[in-house]
Parts: sequence; structure tokens; C-alpha cells
Amino acid sequence: MERFFAETLGEKRFRAHQVMKWIYHQHVTDFGQMTDVGKALRAKLEAHAEVRPPLVQFDKPSTDGTHKWLLGMDSGNAIETVFIPDKGRGTLCVSSQVGCGLNCQFCSTATQGFNRNLSTAEIIGQVWVASKHLGNKTHLHRKLTNVVMMGMGEPLLNFDNVVRAMSLMRDDLGFGLANKRVTLSTAGLVPMIDRLGEASDVSLAVSLHAPNDELRTQLVPLNKKYPIEELMGACVRYLQRRRKGESITFEYTLMKGVNDTPEIARQLVRLMKQFSNQLQYSDAAKVNLIPFNPFPGTRFERSGETEIRAFQKILLDAGVLTMVRRTRGDDIDAACGQLKGQVMDRTRRQSEFKRKLEQQGVSDAA
Ligand code: SF4
Repeated sequence: MERFFAETLGEKRFRAHQVMKWIYHQHVTDFGQMTDVGKALRAKLEAHAEVRPPLVQFDKPSTDGTHKWLLGMDSGNAIETVFIPDKGRGTLCVSSQVGCGLNCQFCSTATQGFNRNLSTAEIIGQVWVASKHLGNKTHLHRKLTNVVMMGMGEPLLNFDNVVRAMSLMRDDLGFGLANKRVTLSTAGLVPMIDRLGEASDVSLAVSLHAPNDELRTQLVPLNKKYPIEELMGACVRYLQRRRKGESITFEYTLMKGVNDTPEIARQLVRLMKQFSNQLQYSDAAKVNLIPFNPFPGTRFERSGETEIRAFQKILLDAGVLTMVRRTRGDDIDAACGQLKGQVMDRTRRQSEFKRKLEQQGVSDAA
């Protein structure tokens, strides 16, 4: 913005700060309303720029306070963004791509195929829409306290745009969030985890879902390219760059009879312990257990409450910090792994999935 003001408009750099505050702190998109900006500059801005947030196609509140927006990105594509309020915090789950090409087997987004990466503006625009709706006041009255890059898409496959958008989330002239309150979640793109460590210092979450390669490759096909040992190596390097005591969250979706047995829980304990030992402090790894959220046509089922508790107990008894994520927003299909949006599929995965559903006699209601 400073460069745009200096080089394109021939204005002082601090003018960029004024305009950023109007956009991100006051949610003002009309240059005419930016009252501390002189008339001449306002006219120049109108001639050279526009502030255009994503189009809200619909917004849907859940009975539990969760809120989902379907945001139009262009004529054929829309993505979903979800706000999850909790005691003392409000977390926004943000998308990075239209659809996703990674095909994790338990994920609804994967069935939609992939169209394109979102631009920096389309990513930060999701935060802007939620912030405006919530009446969020940066530095004064925060309703939006955390952002997780955990919506549709693999953020590390859209590296530059995601890193730039995450900078705006943390900048004082943007949404002013602390580094550790912005989390990027990846399915495990090892070289890009290293690049992220060099470029940014946000929190990292890894979609693990299985503690051995055989099972993980079935659930997260990317594991074939970057197996668990390499993935854990990248996670160790990521934390070594950061302040001692910080942790990585390993996301683990629990599916009945697939990855929820006591034997698999013990394998997970060994993997997490190994990880913490390499960093030489306990709690370098946190495990987030997510009861699977079903969607039409999936072959998986949610683990039973008894199995979930037993799985958690094995981890906790071994000293691994483990939370069970409460399912939120499932009455509006906003729960983890359920985001779908509207994707002009370029991978033909959507039509294959629809064919499979028809063969099973299931109609895709979503
Ligand atoms: S879980 Fe994430 S990375 Fe895997 S297919 Fe779904 S959106 Fe893509």
C-alpha cells in the first residue's frame, strides 16, 4: 500500500496508513467517507483503485452461535468461511483455494474437485466480511480473536497469497492479531513447511489422522509423497526456528473402526513422544481429536463416544496433551471437513463422486 501511494499516486507513504485504518478498522469501502483524507486524494483514489469485498451469497447462523458465509469469488465459484465463538475467543476458519486437489478421503471439500487459488484480496476479504458482520473493533473490542487457515483448500499450495494475507491479519494497520493467534493448517507439504518457517512465524497445525504410513496414505494420499518421518522432520525444524515452548497441533479425525483403536492410539503416543524428545521439551505436540463429521456419500462413520474417550485417555495417560474438539455448526454443515462452497471443478472429481453416489442410490443433498 505504501508503494502504491508513493509510486502510483505520488503521495506520502503515511497516507496509506490512513486508508488501511479506514478499510480494516472501520470497515469503510467508499473513499468518499474517508473524512481525514483530502478531497483531491480521494478523487485520485477513486480513479485508480476500488475496495471490493467478496459478495455474500448467503450467511447462515447456527443454533450454537457458529456462523457460515458463502462468498462469491467470481461468476461460477464460491467458498465458505466459518466463525466459531467460544468462551473468551472467536475463531474464523478461512479458505485458501476454490475446492482442493489433495483428495483426503474423509473430506467433503475434496469431493468438489479444484478450480483455482484465491488471491490475497479474496483471502483477507473473508476476514473483512466476518469482522464487519460481527462489529469487530481491532485494538478495542475484539470479537474475532483467532484465524485458522483450515477452510477449503491446502494453504501451502497457495503460498505467496496466503503468507501475504496472514501478514495483513497480524499487521496493526490490518486486523492486529498476535502471531500465535493465526494458525496455518497443512496436510503435510514438507518443503513448503520449511519455506513457511523462513517466511512467517504463525502457528502450525498438521492434519495427521494416522500414526503409520500405511493407514495415512489411505486417508491422506499426499502421504505417499511425504511420508510421516519426513513430515515430522519438517515439524521439528519448524519449531526449532521458533521460541522454545511453542507447540504444533496435530489434527486427528476419528473414524469408526478406521483409526480409533487402542493399538493405533499407542502408536500415536510413540510418534508424539518421539517428536517432543527431538525438541527436548514436553508438550511440543498437542493432539486435537475431531470426531468425524459425516457428509452425503462418505464411507466413513463417526467413532462412538466410548471409543473417543478411550482413545483420548490412552494419550493423556501417556502425558500427551490431547483435546477433543466439540462439533460445532453441524446443523448448517459448517463443521470441520464439511465445507463445500460452489466449485467449477477442473479435476472431474465432482462428476466421479456424483457417479459413485448414484451407483449407491444416494442423492447429494448438500
Ligand atoms: S482435508 Fe484439507 S487438504 Fe485434505 S482435501 Fe480437504 S481441504 Fe484439501
